[in-house]
Amino acid sequence: MAGIYIHIPFCKSRCIYCDFFTSTNEAEMDAYVITLCKEIVYRKDELAIDIVKTIYFGGGTPSRLNRTHLESIFKTIYANFTVASDAEITIETNPDDLSIIYVDMLSELPFNRVSIGIQSFNDDELKFLSRRHDANTAIEAVKYCQEKGFHNISIDLMYGLPRQTLDIWQSNLQQACQLNVQHISAYHLIYEEKTRLYSLLQAGKVNPVDEDSSLEMFEMLIDILSQAGFAHYEISNFAKEGYISQHNSSYWKGDKYMGLGPSSHSFDGEYRQWNVSSLPKYMKGVNNEKPVFEKEDIDKIKKYNEYIITGLRTMWGINLDELQAKFGDELYANFLEVAQKYLKLNHLRREDNTVTLTRAGIFISDGIMSDLMVVE
Ligand code: SF4
Repeated sequence: MAGIYIHIPFCKSRCIYCDFFTSTNEAEMDAYVITLCKEIVYRKDELAIDIVKTIYFGGGTPSRLNRTHLESIFKTIYANFTVASDAEITIETNPDDLSIIYVDMLSELPFNRVSIGIQSFNDDELKFLSRRHDANTAIEAVKYCQEKGFHNISIDLMYGLPRQTLDIWQSNLQQACQLNVQHISAYHLIYEEKTRLYSLLQAGKVNPVDEDSSLEMFEMLIDILSQAGFAHYEISNFAKEGYISQHNSSYWKGDKYMGLGPSSHSFDGEYRQWNVSSLPKYMKGVNNEKPVFEKEDIDKIKKYNEYIITGLRTMWGINLDELQAKFGDELYANFLEVAQKYLKLNHLRREDNTVTLTRAGIFISDGIMSDLMVVE
């Protein structure tokens, strides 16, 4: 079983906080889709014996693609891979693109899951983030998707914004719950270098939210979504029963996946590779049948460290029997020794043979994970 990730590196405009690999030069979109389809054909043998269980269009903003673009990508995928009849097929979208006509078009394609980058239902916050949409457009977008028959809708929210109060965050969460979506991803705002937001921070023009408020917002997130019937299955992800993201779960479970498009990553169980993060270099490489990418062997220690990180991020945690069987007695003993401190502090919990983060542990998870990891 495998997943396919398709990167669409175009956005109509750039959000203030974004450091993703994306371009606002949409004039290149036609040529890009032709090149992307060539890469699909070129790399088809990498998944020759696998059944594709998930396809994920991410970005950038895949909802900038038109019907012709999307149809040609699907045609190429279906001609070159074996896609399961019940595959989860997701498109990331911007609410501003989701007119009723566009959603109708999406519903006629193989997509069965729509992920909508809403971020906030507060117009001042949306303006601050330089998002293209307002709250009303976001609410309409969800309704259009529901009207056109999408039963698996995910929305993204963001918290920890400068000047965001607990009341604003609470009202964002309540609005999200009222929409009857099946999945919510919620991320704390990060000040990434090389973004406009980071420059504002450096210039002293924004005040980051303090750590206590961040923690309170995170607690509120878990409380409100749990009460609304969402399972907190990964640090930033919440799902109603039966709607856990299959695509993202396969990353966390260490399954095979192929990433297509510039900057996208692939993993075949032994090797990790990533395409060049440059549109011109990507296009030139694929068009000359010499794709530009880097590749690294995942040795036992790297695999162990990834196993710790991905396991602890999720509600499935780390199964100690599996850890011992996969990585041997030495790493198993090391894990138990380091984990002891966090078990005593109630930052980790052990039930039967599974270790998971507690709620107190989730907020300091980066520190716990790095402590549990092994230096090569
Ligand atoms: S829409 Fe998404 S990918 Fe595009 S600039 Fe905004 S955050 Fe970045």
